[in-house]
Amino acid sequence: MFNPKQVRDDFPIYYHNPDLVYLDSSATSLKPISVINKLTDYYKKYSANIHRGIYQLAEKASEEYEETRKILSLFINSKIPEEIIFTKGTTESLNLIAASLGSDILQEGDEIVTTIMEHHANFVPWQQLVERNGAILKVIGINDQHELGIVTYNYAGKAIIDFEEIITNRTKILALTYVSNTLGTINPVKEIIKAAKKKNPQIITVVDAAQAIPHYEIDVRDLDCDFLVFSGHKMLGPTGVGVLWGKKKLLESMRPYQFGGDMIREVKLEQTTFADVPHKFEAGTPPIAEVIALKESVAYLNYYGFEDIRKHETSLVTTAVSQLQDEFGELIHILGPQNPKNRAGIVTFTLNGIHPHDIAQVLDESQVCVRAGHHCTMPLHDSLGLAATVRVSFYLYNTKDDIDKLITGLKRAVSLLKKNI
Ligand code: PMP
Repeated sequence: MFNPKQVRDDFPIYYHNPDLVYLDSSATSLKPISVINKLTDYYKKYSANIHRGIYQLAEKASEEYEETRKILSLFINSKIPEEIIFTKGTTESLNLIAASLGSDILQEGDEIVTTIMEHHANFVPWQQLVERNGAILKVIGINDQHELGIVTYNYAGKAIIDFEEIITNRTKILALTYVSNTLGTINPVKEIIKAAKKKNPQIITVVDAAQAIPHYEIDVRDLDCDFLVFSGHKMLGPTGVGVLWGKKKLLESMRPYQFGGDMIREVKLEQTTFADVPHKFEAGTPPIAEVIALKESVAYLNYYGFEDIRKHETSLVTTAVSQLQDEFGELIHILGPQNPKNRAGIVTFTLNGIHPHDIAQVLDESQVCVRAGHHCTMPLHDSLGLAATVRVSFYLYNTKDDIDKLITGLKRAVSLLKKNI
């Protein structure tokens, strides 16, 4: 049986900070001891470079590194491990696609479609690209439920997407997030991709799974996307490592993003030829220890299973929303979908007349960690007429006690800051 109190024993940060109430997992998750041990194992026992040395230590490091590629490939149901490229994180993965593929395929008057709820990492690279190429950026808005405006639901609650207006034969790329890091909205990505491809079979679809991969089972073949990107550090893994998954044919057609060691086949004075994918996109010494340790986070998530993790988070989010509403009534404004099925473990809100930064500061005095600001979604905040919000995000180690401590902290914040209202 899934027991979050037991889960916490695997996270040394709770031992070092017994009163910690960590509610900022959407920014980065905590790390279990198995991931930390795997990182230090590499440095203690076999810290050689990969794909170079022919001595045993180097071979061990290379094997461990490539093993993670295989495990991640299985984790997202990729056809082959070669479709997994290691990057620094979601941001680098998206920049790689924009720089390498985007600039080659985009002509003046072409379109890129994205959404208003994107993280800057899935917005700015496309904005820069269209600016350079004379193309057009189209942005899908949200409805009053904070779900994508193009999505309506039939009587069975199934998403129906109307793409007639948005996707045209000039749309080259559709880039959207699976889960909004601010609203918590879970987008019906599979249906959206299907509808987009029906309208324009040539369209290239890019899914930002940074906030989805830590919480849901992802099957890239079932989604039928062309690219899917995510970061290790949000899924219990180390910082400094992320993934770009892409269909092999597309990856093969793309020019390298960076040049240097390990990505070449042959270098001559006149000309260079490049290695096959994935190595073509992994120039230089990668974050070896981080890649190696990332497989431990997959093992940890698989051990508990996404069904239980999701159930636990939905229960936390439902409790938090209802307690916040009961406690603060008219004072609080909670963002995101009302239907818990469409909401990830994220609750973002404002308290009338109190600045989010002040709330976060008061909460920090009782070791309650929340995020305050625009959460790298300024266009979304602008569209909602907000400068900043407070974000609470849950993961498998959070408990109902954490919610109680959040509410106590917020009551204190209101009583301290209310006089300024
Ligand atoms: N996309 C989304 C939806 C995110 O939440 C984040 C991180 N907050 C990113 C992209 C960027 O991830 P990273 O900073 O790990 O590159």
